[in-house]
Amino acid sequence: MPQNVQLPKSLEGKTVLVAGAGGFVPSHICEIYLELGAKVIGLDNFITGSRSNVELLSKNSNFSFEEINIIDGLPDFKGIDIDYIYSLASPASPIDFKEIPLEIMRVNSEGTLNLLELAKEKRARFLEASTSEVYGDPEIHPQTEEYVGCVNPIGPRACYDESKRFAEALTMTFYRRYNVDTRIVRIFNTYGPRMRPNDGRVIPNFINQAMNDENITIYGDGTQTRSFCFVTDLAQAIHNVMFSNIHTPFNCGNPDEYSITECAETIIKVLGSKSELSYHPLPEDDPKKRRPNLAKLQAISEYAPVIGFEDGITRTANYFKEMASNS
Ligand code: UDP
Repeated sequence: MPQNVQLPKSLEGKTVLVAGAGGFVPSHICEIYLELGAKVIGLDNFITGSRSNVELLSKNSNFSFEEINIIDGLPDFKGIDIDYIYSLASPASPIDFKEIPLEIMRVNSEGTLNLLELAKEKRARFLEASTSEVYGDPEIHPQTEEYVGCVNPIGPRACYDESKRFAEALTMTFYRRYNVDTRIVRIFNTYGPRMRPNDGRVIPNFINQAMNDENITIYGDGTQTRSFCFVTDLAQAIHNVMFSNIHTPFNCGNPDEYSITECAETIIKVLGSKSELSYHPLPEDDPKKRRPNLAKLQAISEYAPVIGFEDGITRTANYFKEMASNS
C-alpha cells in the first residue's frame, strides 16, 4: 500500500467532534468512528440535518449530542480531550443556496473559525469538508486539486462556493500561522441513504419522481455532467484523508461521469418506472461538467469506490421507500 495513510484499527480512548452530525454525510462519518470504538460528540442545529439520523447514532452509548448552532460559540469542553474535529456543518444543496444563503455563509466563516479555535486550543486534528463547488464552472476537466477554479463571486451559488473557499483559506491560515494539524477534502456529488428526500438535488428528485411515475425534471438540455459517489465510499475517502499527513486539499468522490439525461434514464431503468423526461430552465451558473481527478488521493491510499451507480440507486430508493412507510 502506498504511504502516508496509516488507518487505525481502533480508536478506543479517542474523542471525535463532528459538527453537522445530523447531516447525511456526517452521520456516515460518525458511524466509522463509533465502529472504531471512539467517543463521538455530535453537534447540529437541524437547519438541514435530521433528528432521525441523530436518533440512529444515539443507539450507541459512545455517541453524545448537543443541539447548537456553531456560529453562536461551542459548548464548554473544559476537561475533555478532543482528538479529531470534523467541520461538516454546512447546508449544501442548491435549494439551500436560495433559502438560507446567510446561514451558509456564516457557518462556513464564523462556525469554521470557532471549530479551528477549538482545534488550536485542544491540539486536535481538524478536517474541513470543502466542496467541488470551489472549482465553479470548471475549465479543466477532470478537476485536479491544483486548479484554482472559475467561480462567479456574485452569483446565486456564491454563498456556498465563496464561503467554502473562505473556509479553505481559514483552514490553511490556521495551519501556516498556528501549526494546527489541518486537512481539507473537496467533496464531489454524493448520494445515498439518509439524504433528505426533499433535498432538491438531482438524485433524490429523480428517484422520487421515478418511484411515483411522475415526469423527471431535467434542467437545461440534460447534457451537463456530474460524477456521483455513494455515501459510504465518500466517507471512506474522507477518513483516509484524516489519517494522511498532508494539509493541502484532496478531491473525494467517484470519477464515473454521467450526463443528467443518462442519470435520469438509468434511474428509470433501475426502478422499472414509467416516468418520462420533461425539460425545464437551467438554473443560473449551473456547472456544465464535473468529475474528480482522484490521483492525489489514490497516491496516498488504496481508495477506490466500491458501490456502482445502479446498485447505489437501488439502495437509496429502498431507503426512501422505508422512510415513506415509517412516516
Ligand atoms: N438537476 C436537474 N433536475 C433536478 C435537479 C437537478 O436536472 O430536478 C440538475 C442540475 O441543474 C445540475 C445537476 O442536475 O445540472 C446536479 O444538480 P444538484 O442540485 O444535484 O447538484 P449540483 O451538482 O448542481 O450542486
